[in-house]
Amino acid sequence: MTETIIDKPPHRQVTSNLTDYHECYTSFSTEPPSAVSDLPNRPTINIAYEAVDRHLNTDIEDKLALRWLSKQDEIVDFSYRDLAEQTSRFASVLHRLGFERGDRVFSLAGRLPLLYISALGTLKSGCVFTPLFSAFGPEPIRSRMEIGEANVLITTMGLYRKKVASWWHELPYLKAILLIDGSGELEEGCYALPELMDQGDPYYPCVNTQKDEMALLHFTSGTTGKPKGVMHIHQAVEEHKISAYYALDLHPSDIYWCTADPGWVTGTSYGIIAPLCMGATMIVDEAEFEVERWYRILQDQHITVWYTAPTAIRMLMRAGSEIRQGYDLSALHFIASVGEPLNPEAVIWGEKTLGLPFHDNWWQTETGAIMIANYASQAIKPGSMGLPLPGITAGIVKRNEQGDVEEVHKPMEVGELALKQGWPSMFRGYLHQSERYERCFNNGWYLSGDQAMRDEQGYYWFVGRVDDLIKSSGHLIGPFEVESALMEHSSVAEVGVIGIPDELTGEMVKAYVALKPDVEQTEQTLQALQKELKGFARKRLGAAVAPKEIVFRQNLPKTRSGKIMRRLLKARELGLPEGDISTLESDEQ
Ligand code: ATP
Ligand code: MG
Repeated sequence: MTETIIDKPPHRQVTSNLTDYHECYTSFSTEPPSAVSDLPNRPTINIAYEAVDRHLNTDIEDKLALRWLSKQDEIVDFSYRDLAEQTSRFASVLHRLGFERGDRVFSLAGRLPLLYISALGTLKSGCVFTPLFSAFGPEPIRSRMEIGEANVLITTMGLYRKKVASWWHELPYLKAILLIDGSGELEEGCYALPELMDQGDPYYPCVNTQKDEMALLHFTSGTTGKPKGVMHIHQAVEEHKISAYYALDLHPSDIYWCTADPGWVTGTSYGIIAPLCMGATMIVDEAEFEVERWYRILQDQHITVWYTAPTAIRMLMRAGSEIRQGYDLSALHFIASVGEPLNPEAVIWGEKTLGLPFHDNWWQTETGAIMIANYASQAIKPGSMGLPLPGITAGIVKRNEQGDVEEVHKPMEVGELALKQGWPSMFRGYLHQSERYERCFNNGWYLSGDQAMRDEQGYYWFVGRVDDLIKSSGHLIGPFEVESALMEHSSVAEVGVIGIPDELTGEMVKAYVALKPDVEQTEQTLQALQKELKGFARKRLGAAVAPKEIVFRQNLPKTRSGKIMRRLLKARELGLPEGDISTLESDEQ
C-alpha cells in the first residue's frame, strides 16, 4: 500500500475466547441470530478479528496477506497490517455515517481491493455483510436488497449508473451508496469511498460481537428455484478455519488462489475469510476466466493451493492438455474443487495434466463451510465427495412411515444426505422463511436436499439433487452418474442430464451435450456421434440407465456460480415457465 504508518496500533479489544473446539459443537442451537446486546461475560468472536487483527503484533503482521492482480496486470499488495488498518478505516466510515451494529451492508462489485476491505470492515463494525454478483441485472439486485433490507450498498460508478441509480431511493431502508471509484460532487446519499477512507480511523477497534450474532447473509445459487437468503453468525469462522486446514491443506506458508466470484458463499468463506484466518497469502485476480491467463497466474504467482470449480476445470480440459505444457506449475501442491459434482474424469485429468489430482469437496450455502471432502491425509476416490470433516457427523437418511427420518446403514444405498445438527457454521435461518428453515430439520438431522450414497469406507457419493432424480422403469437414476459416463468420451466437454415424462417408462433419460471445440460438427458427423455416444453410455451404464436421447448444445444453462441448471433444461423441454432465472448466466439454447 502507498501509505506509511508509523505508529503501532493499540491492542484490539476483541478476545477470541471461543477456542475450545468442543464448545463449538455443543453450543449449537437452531435459534435465529441473537439480538445485539452486550451482556457481560459472554464469549465474543468476530470474523474480521480472526481473519485480520489476530495477526497484528505477531511475526506475520508484515507478511503479504492479499495480492491483487488487475485486468491490466497491475499488482497491488496488502500486508496483514495494511488490511487491519484499511478494514478499520472502513468500519469507522460506517460508524461515522451513522450505521450501527446489525445494519446490513450489501456489495455489488467485481474483484476489487475495496470490495475485500469493505467485506472485512463491515464485519469488524458489527454490521452484516451480503455480497451480490456484479453481473446481476437491476431486478435481482433490487429484489435481494429489498428482502435483505439493505442499509448500505458498496458498488462502482458504472454499476451504480447502469443498475441502481433509477430505483434505489424507493427502498426505505437504503441510506447510503458508497462508490468504490467515486470522487468529487455526487448526488445526495452517494459517497466517494476513497475520500471517506482517507478520513477514516486506521485504529478503529473491532466490535466485540457475540458468537451467535449475525455476520453474513448469503443468497443461494438459485439452481433449484428462487434463491434463499441464508443467515450466518460470527461463530461460523471456527468452521472456516477447521475446514481450510483439513479440506484445503492450507497453512501460513501457502500462496492460495480461490477462483470463486465474491458474489456467492465460496467467494466469501474461502475467497476472503479462511485464507486470512490461516495466515496464508491470497491472490485475487480481477479478470474473468481465460485459459492461458489462469495457467500464467498459477505459474507466476507460485500458487501452492488452488480452489476452483468443476465448470472451470471442464473449460481447461476442453482447451486441451497441450497448452499446459508451456507452464511451470511445480509450486502447486494441493488442488480442490467445489460447487458441483466433479466427474472422475476431471480428477484423473488433474493428475495426468497438472501432476496432482483434484480433491472434490461438498458443502452448501446453508452449511457455511466445507462439510465433506477428499482431504489431504486421506486417499482420494475419484467421483466421490470424500469423508465428513472431523467434528461433522454425516448420514444417509430416509423417512419412515411416521415421517421421521432415520439413518440408512447399508453401504451404497441411495438416500438424502443429512448432517447431525450442531456445527459452528450452520445457518441460523432463511430470511423471512422460518417455516422453510424448520422443515430442513428432522429427528436431529439437517436435511441437505441432495441424494447420495455412502460406501463401506465411509466415503460419500453424490447422486443428484432430490428434485433432479430420474425414475425410469422402476430404476432411480442420478443425473451425475450418466453425466460422468458421457464425460469419459473424448469428444465431450460438458453434459446435463434430465428425465422427461414418458408413457412407457415413467421418465426417459435425456442428455444435453456440449462438445470440445476441435470436434467436427457437420450434420453427418453429429448424427454419427449421437449414435456413438448412446452406445458408449449403454456399454458403461446398461440400457436401463443410458440416455435414450442425446442432443448437442453450444453451452449449457448455468448459474453464475457455475452450476448446470437442469431444472431449466427440463422447463424448456416441457414448455413450462422458466421460473426464477435471476442467477442464470447467458446461454445459447
Ligand atoms: P439453490 O439452493 O438456490 O437451488 P444451490 O443449492 O445450487 O442453489 P449452493 O448453496 O451454492 O446453491 O450450492 C450447494 C449445492 O451445490 C449442494 O446442495 C449440491 O447440490 C451442489 N454441490 C456443491 N458441491 C458439490 C460437490 N462437491 N458434489 C456434488 N454437488 C455439489
Ligand atoms: Mg441449495
